[in-house]
Amino acid sequence: MENIQNKVVIITGASSGIGEATAKLLAQNGAKVVLAARREQRLLSIVDTIRQGGGDAFSVKADVVSADDMRNLAQFTFDTYGRIDVLINNAGIMPNSKLNELRVEEWGQMIDVNIKGVLYGIAAVLPTMRKQQSGHIINLSSTAGYHVAPTSAVYSATKFAVRAISEGLRLEESPTSHIRSTLIAPGLTQTELLDHITSPEVQTISSQIKDMGISPYSIAKAIAFAINEPDDTLVSEIMVRPAVL
Ligand code: NDP
Repeated sequence: MENIQNKVVIITGASSGIGEATAKLLAQNGAKVVLAARREQRLLSIVDTIRQGGGDAFSVKADVVSADDMRNLAQFTFDTYGRIDVLINNAGIMPNSKLNELRVEEWGQMIDVNIKGVLYGIAAVLPTMRKQQSGHIINLSSTAGYHVAPTSAVYSATKFAVRAISEGLRLEESPTSHIRSTLIAPGLTQTELLDHITSPEVQTISSQIKDMGISPYSIAKAIAFAINEPDDTLVSEIMVRPAVL
């Protein structure tokens, strides 16, 4: 993992699950990590753990739905380390339900966090990466970004959108400004993602399948692999899913 050493990496949604696992794994491999999310205390405690293990980490409270918060996050990272090598657009929510439940507010939240959050992240780092003529933006989609299931229409739509954005970014930036764009598509992973489901029907289904999820470290390892590849190699897409599903 020698290419991860000293890279400056921003991770959104780093207060739990895949983001937390990724921050810890990258820091163990010598990256300088900036963890972002809304739950500040959780971030501080993870940063503390990383530093106790000899890693280099900071945290910034940021809501990905706010373009200002994302700009502040990028500015803090640049002021602290003088560059931004990698952005991991990982923050996401999945309050699934059937369309006929009309959970319109949750549809809006998913669109805001999962799509606009990714775009605001890109907007926050792109000018710096273009000036550097290097950088890497890693976007979290899902197996739901390839297939729709009952109850996942809106979530899937957001993750299809993340695929489109990631691909567009790759086509526009990789040949000219050497900014790499990677899509990571996890299948069911054991995190807090399912805990925020409010639809009783979906809660019942998710409690039955939750234990089949894989470890967030399996996803973190895929992300680390993409970062570690040399600059002339772009890992455009990785899907990692439970063997049993
Ligand atoms: P978690 O719920 O454990 O983590 C989600 C993270 O997103 C938290 O750190 C949360 O932090 C953060 N977050 C949510 N809303 C916001 C917001 N408005 N602003 C900033 N941060 C926010 O779930 P996962 O680790 O599983 O999710 C990570 C990504 O992986 C998501 O994009 C998800 O869609 C994707 N994924 C997950 C799968 C799974 O089965 N777990 C499968 C496929 C994809 P806080 O609340 O502190 O802000």
